[in-house]
Amino acid sequence: MLRPILRQGIGLLSSRRATGKLLVLTYHRVLETYDAIINEIDAVQFTQQMETLAEYFNVISLAEGVERLQAGTLAAGSVCITFDDGYRDNFDVALPILDALDLPATFFVATGYLGDGMMWNDVIIESMRNTALQQLDLNEFDLGIHAINTEGQRIQLVDMLLGKWKYKAVAERDQLAKRFQELADVKLDQRIMMTEQEVVGLAKAGMEIGGHTINHPILAVTELSEAAKQIRECKRELETMINKPVRFFAYPNGRMGKDYLNEHLSAVKEAGYLAALTTNDGYINHDADLYELPRVSVNHTSKFKFGASLARGYVQYGS
Ligand SMILES: [Zn+2]
Repeated sequence: MLRPILRQGIGLLSSRRATGKLLVLTYHRVLETYDAIINEIDAVQFTQQMETLAEYFNVISLAEGVERLQAGTLAAGSVCITFDDGYRDNFDVALPILDALDLPATFFVATGYLGDGMMWNDVIIESMRNTALQQLDLNEFDLGIHAINTEGQRIQLVDMLLGKWKYKAVAERDQLAKRFQELADVKLDQRIMMTEQEVVGLAKAGMEIGGHTINHPILAVTELSEAAKQIRECKRELETMINKPVRFFAYPNGRMGKDYLNEHLSAVKEAGYLAALTTNDGYINHDADLYELPRVSVNHTSKFKFGASLARGYVQYGS
């Protein structure tokens, strides 16, 4: 199904002049092997996607993409690849695949979790993957008692908790996740985020490192001074780490009005970033605000949806 859809998209493209549009793809984790509870793409799927991009598209670095966007010199089918959060598998699994195909990418890192840290959502996911319990009493959260005998039940409970707690303040979210881990009775000693050395390794491999705050707060529900500090300080920390300028930022969770507000665009600009990426779905047009560049998310998608999302942009957003 993949190739006919791509041909259709590219056929439309070649029938007119270069559209001057830029597609930026968002990934999070690239798993060695698929796991339904984590629900991210695996190495086989990622390899296929990267091969498709290398064969049919013009994959460029984010810096080149932004520069060409402003200069009006984007080639047809221009795509940038980005990763959010700073997962260990970005270094272990994704980097060798990107390297083999000579594809550039940008990695947006939340500095506060590097090394042994774990984001609150991963504490919940990993607790659910590893618990030996068959039932969880969540009455202390007013959430009742849940059977977790099957993978389906575990997935459903993870989705419910992530949805309920996502917009809580950072400290409360961490506390809830920690308490959930205690109830699930698991020890989480696996490292799932990159170390500082691995971030340096990505930069040395020619990859771009971007800011993604320190603790991944939802900026829209965070005090502005604290949000500005998170935006500024992660840039400073990463620059010290990689000894290079950190030029790009990605808003945590990334949706306008829900996750970030207009005031955060100014904070990102004031911190000295050149541009910022959202998760608002879409292609980037030549007149886009550099501090609010949309992306297309391809994590947890099937091969079919990946092809469709690539082709769709040229059909739906094409001029
Ligand atoms: Zn993120």
